[in-house]
Amino acid sequence: MPSAAIPRPLGERVHLDHAATTAVRPSALAALAEAAALPGNPASLHASGRRAKLVLEQAREAVAVALGAHPSEVVLTSGGTEADNLAVQGLFRARRTADPQRLRIVLTGAEHHAVLDAVDWLGAHEGAEPVIVPVDADGVVDLVAWEAALAAAPESTALAALMWANNEIGTVQPVAEAARIAAAHGVPLHTDAVQAVGAVPVDFAASGAATLAVSGHKAGAPVGVGALLVRRDVALTPVVHGGGQERRLRSGTVSVALAAALAAALAEAVAEQPAEAVRLGVLRDRVIDAVDALEAVVLTGPRDADPTTGAPLPPGTRRLPGNVHVTVPGRTADALLFTFDTAGLDTSSGSACTAGVAEPSHVVAALPGRTEADARATQRFTLGRTSTPADVDALIAALRGLAPAPRRDAPTTKGAPTTKEESR
Ligand code: PLP
Repeated sequence: MPSAAIPRPLGERVHLDHAATTAVRPSALAALAEAAALPGNPASLHASGRRAKLVLEQAREAVAVALGAHPSEVVLTSGGTEADNLAVQGLFRARRTADPQRLRIVLTGAEHHAVLDAVDWLGAHEGAEPVIVPVDADGVVDLVAWEAALAAAPESTALAALMWANNEIGTVQPVAEAARIAAAHGVPLHTDAVQAVGAVPVDFAASGAATLAVSGHKAGAPVGVGALLVRRDVALTPVVHGGGQERRLRSGTVSVALAAALAAALAEAVAEQPAEAVRLGVLRDRVIDAVDALEAVVLTGPRDADPTTGAPLPPGTRRLPGNVHVTVPGRTADALLFTFDTAGLDTSSGSACTAGVAEPSHVVAALPGRTEADARATQRFTLGRTSTPADVDALIAALRGLAPAPRRDAPTTKGAPTTKEESR
């Protein structure tokens, strides 16, 4: 159950948007306040500076322990977007500088915009050649196509990028296998683990990734801090130049207070992860069962079940434990959001917004069998550590209000893909 010390966000509202951001943990706030009271710049050589530096290095070590990394591999950033940009731009430039023919970037079309737009920018300005590998109907990368894309021209490939878990539809990707294939062709892999950390086990060393992006505010730290893990043998060209902080990879005075808050939040989130995955998986599957029983609402993304046999798998094996994503054909994401909002539920269109209007989801558009109309009819519900069974009851009631006619042959989430999904 959620800790009694954690206030429910926004009073009486039902917060179903934990993937956008989640409440700051009391432990992170306490660490922030304590470290913010320290006067020194951690780069200063005097006693105050050295004390700040000690707190910073203790935080770095805690981040490393939480994520299976060495402390020297932790580069603190302002968040996930900066970490993704440093990885994508930094790997591309370092690899291309070492060998000018390395222009290809292998990735899927379902990556977060922090990766996609960085790749697009490098394509428009620095000659990068994106190679998009298809995903299956659940959003899982096609590893045969992945291998083929890397094998086609390994000598001219700068990097590969595959997110650990999708922020819209919750798909957990086979990152270790993709990294192994990339490494076999001499190509470094960047993984965006922003939605994975604290939701599923994340071990940087075991993953084989060259770089890994993490964001504090998705795990209970304040907004404004994150990290890029950079394997010690990996060269990156910095994006920000200046004082040479963070192994010269990210210049700028490091916020000791935010680093301490990040460390506290990650330590707690990772320690709670196994129990939270089970708790949230049960709540999530109640919503998915309800969706399965509604004719007008279609689940997007995988189930935690074996795709061939339908045998149940532990929560987080194929889908993030707290993620439910649906399409409601005939509705728009904005109208759906308004409907849920009016009912007191904070939900998300799941895709990017331009001037407050939801764009069609590039993730849903990348799924074979889904249409442009589907990509406009999305809604995402994400659970987190303050979520309760009552939140899920409210969501199920609101979903039923959208589509009152129940199906006669409602399957369970533990089974094989539903007829609704097969028919799409
Ligand atoms: N990557 C993914 C998968 C995300 O979900 C997000 C945030 O929504 C980001 C990157 C960006 O992280 P930040 O908000 O810390 O910049």
